[in-house]
Amino acid sequence: MRDARSSADDDALFSLDDLAASTGAGTDPRPGPGPLFRESAEARRLLAVREIHAEPGAAASLRGRQILALFPGARLVETDSHWRIPQLHGNEGNVERWVRVKSETLVLGERKTLTTRPNGRSADWIAPGASNGCAMACAYCYVPRRKGYANPITVFTNIDRIIAHIGRHVAQLGPKPEANQCDPHAWVYDIGENGDCSVDALISDNTADLVRAFRKWPTAKASFATKFVNPDLLHLDPQGRTRVRFSVMPADDSRLLDIRTSPVDRRIDAAADFLEAGYEVHFNLSPVVIRPGWEDAWAELLRRMDDVLPSAVKEQAAAEVIMLTHNRDLHDVNLAWHPQAEDLLWRPDLQQPKRSENGSWNVRYRNGEKAAAVETLRRLVATHAPWLRIRYAF
Ligand code: SF4
Repeated sequence: MRDARSSADDDALFSLDDLAASTGAGTDPRPGPGPLFRESAEARRLLAVREIHAEPGAAASLRGRQILALFPGARLVETDSHWRIPQLHGNEGNVERWVRVKSETLVLGERKTLTTRPNGRSADWIAPGASNGCAMACAYCYVPRRKGYANPITVFTNIDRIIAHIGRHVAQLGPKPEANQCDPHAWVYDIGENGDCSVDALISDNTADLVRAFRKWPTAKASFATKFVNPDLLHLDPQGRTRVRFSVMPADDSRLLDIRTSPVDRRIDAAADFLEAGYEVHFNLSPVVIRPGWEDAWAELLRRMDDVLPSAVKEQAAAEVIMLTHNRDLHDVNLAWHPQAEDLLWRPDLQQPKRSENGSWNVRYRNGEKAAAVETLRRLVATHAPWLRIRYAF
């Protein structure tokens, strides 16, 4: 097995073998005999992988070999860099097979840059993610912007280095000196900024390794947003050190915008199981899309949450409210494959453009529209789900 300590890089403090010995990482997460959800027909419908583009080092690594073994029928294509795959990235022709690419293609690479960035809204820190890209296809997703039209999942196989980096960051910080809206006690690290950790867990044990690593760090907590219910995560025993944030929106909006995700009702219904399994369970009310009737639709959603969630979930729940941000380039892409979504997302009468750091044009609701909508949503929560503390609204 590959031992990361052979690397000259200081970040390689331990190998996957060490990780497995200390945390149970890399081991089969099933609780007993019986198939994992990721081996089910439902999981294979989401990820029917036929082609895997892999950097040689990533393919040869332990994690890489585990992934290749999971998809034995897939064609392996060697690539120099997971960032530069001309037939996948920035290729406008791919827009016609936008969803197929996400289902049938994987990329394996090694994450070179390991940086933890301050955040202060959703989490205290954004950890270097163990993946980039997603097999789902939400029409408003910002993740593909840097990669162009096709955006399959890139799995980073050097999870040992990623966890070692986070562990050092946690150790250097020490205890959290004072409570903030992210968490009263723990430093919160977002581990899924550029993908969905629940879907990543259909491909590899990267998510499991991160959940298990955070168990050992009493001053820190992992956090990730998800739109997919993956029952395999229920067996990871997070011991309260991982916060899962189920993203929810009105069902009609979700059916149009959240392509390939778990239905919103299923995400809400899963909350109690995840709490019982040892997760902290929060909700992302996001994105909030202003359209005729949006207030009634959100009121109905909040009433349903109030009806079905048990008091144990309500007592510990909190929420982020995130108004829609859209993007001009993504608008053009969507027009080519899912134009109905743009009826909701592209509202020049309500939105204002703003040049982003990478030079593309983002659009957000105008300040006045946005402030009024946030206020409306706060009022709806106070009326229909008063137990739901809003951590922040943006
Ligand atoms: S689940 Fe998240 S990462 Fe995946 S497509 Fe939707 S918004 Fe993007």
